[in-house]
Amino acid sequence: MKFHIPTEVLYIVKTLKKHGFECYIVGGAVRDLLLGKKNPDWDFTTNAKPEEVTKLFKKVIPTGIKFGTVTVLIKKVPYEVTTYRSDESYIDGRHPENVKFTTSLEEDLKRRDFTINALAYDPIEDKLVDLFDGQKDLKDKLIRAVGNPLERFKEDGLRSIRACRFATKLGFKIEKETFAAISKTLSVTKKVAFERVHDELIKMLGANQPSIGIELMRKAGLLKLFIPELEKGIKVRQPKPYHKYDVYYHNLACMDAAPKDQPIIPLAALLHDVEKPKCKDGMKFYGHDQKSAETAVKILRRLKFSNADVEKVRLLVANHMFHYTPKWTDAAVRRFIRKVGLESIEELFTLRIADVAAMAKSPGTKYLPVLRRRIKKILARDNALHLKDLAIDGNDVMKTLNIKPGPEVGKILNQLLEKVLDEPSLNNKKTLTEALRPSFPKTCL
Ligand code: ATP
Ligand code: MG
Repeated sequence: MKFHIPTEVLYIVKTLKKHGFECYIVGGAVRDLLLGKKNPDWDFTTNAKPEEVTKLFKKVIPTGIKFGTVTVLIKKVPYEVTTYRSDESYIDGRHPENVKFTTSLEEDLKRRDFTINALAYDPIEDKLVDLFDGQKDLKDKLIRAVGNPLERFKEDGLRSIRACRFATKLGFKIEKETFAAISKTLSVTKKVAFERVHDELIKMLGANQPSIGIELMRKAGLLKLFIPELEKGIKVRQPKPYHKYDVYYHNLACMDAAPKDQPIIPLAALLHDVEKPKCKDGMKFYGHDQKSAETAVKILRRLKFSNADVEKVRLLVANHMFHYTPKWTDAAVRRFIRKVGLESIEELFTLRIADVAAMAKSPGTKYLPVLRRRIKKILARDNALHLKDLAIDGNDVMKTLNIKPGPEVGKILNQLLEKVLDEPSLNNKKTLTEALRPSFPKTCL
């Protein structure tokens, strides 16, 4: 067998074995070693109790001591070491009622979700423990529950989402009985905390082709539990010759075409046209960008995305319909920069490229470098795109007009900014202050 195992990992196993305990690398790490993946997350399973593990290493954090997990720090890198467990009955379809430690590796492997995740490896003896034909399933590219899938998914509703996630990430199929069990245990999966669903979704979006996971979830009935809005796009036709997909598959194809180095763009891509069905008027979809942005916010809040993620996706979806032509005036380009925000423009372009890639007849994106160059030029030349770049601020407005702080001040500043966007040369303190008097706002602006 002989895998390349880092010295720190060997040190953990050796230390525990030297003191008379068993210790194996386990779970995803063994799976990834067998798949030839580099730098897996190293997890360990041992018959030593958490307090015994704690005594053997210098730096140990009791991360999940109730569940038998401690984190051993070696050269500041964390390694999770978990005591052999055999989970007892589950109360809420997610958390075992009580965790029972066991002295048997077999018991510990039996509680794990899928055969390919139930492998253990002792790197000192070069011994692979494979009690459920995990290696065969790895070769056959199959996600198969350990034991009876129906019982296993009833115990923990997250497992069915994990099955879809692993199938997507690894490009595997879900074994027939395991897949059939998903739709029979939806009432359990429904109770899973949305935070957990969020984590799985993020991992799925990092796959080469996340549409595989969304489709698996749809076919099994999971998508209806978490993002039912997406299914409304099925069979909603779009104008030819530009489109070859209905709205649902166009959203999925756009997600697949997006770069996967961070989840925000594929996420925005998945939701960018979510409300097209609601806006359909013949072959036109007026206002679908705004409506889709509103619905994207609802979906992402439900799935516990951070405020920053929600806002970024909202902005990208709401602005994805820009139509640049060389006729845009400099003022129009400045308004575009201001609306989208400088920090999001490249992401919006990336979304547009994915959107176009998911069409049948590409309207092209040749104008993007042209627009990019114009933006660069305008930024180098002018300086007023945001309120903070104006030559006067709220204090100046209040002093000049002798008014108190309040929404009126912001309104006045915004009116000034509109003028400056049209004519950047106005952006100096003298002109703007003069613009405020004496008969502001009607005649000056
Ligand atoms: P990755 O870290 O690449 O996402 P992984 O297989 O390491 O994949 P983790 O969530 O890190 O997944 O879990 C580590 C191991 O713990 C799994 O390989 C599996 O053996 C076990 N495991 C995790 N979650 C569950 C679960 N819900 N039910 C049963 N076993 C689980
Ligand atoms: Mg892991």
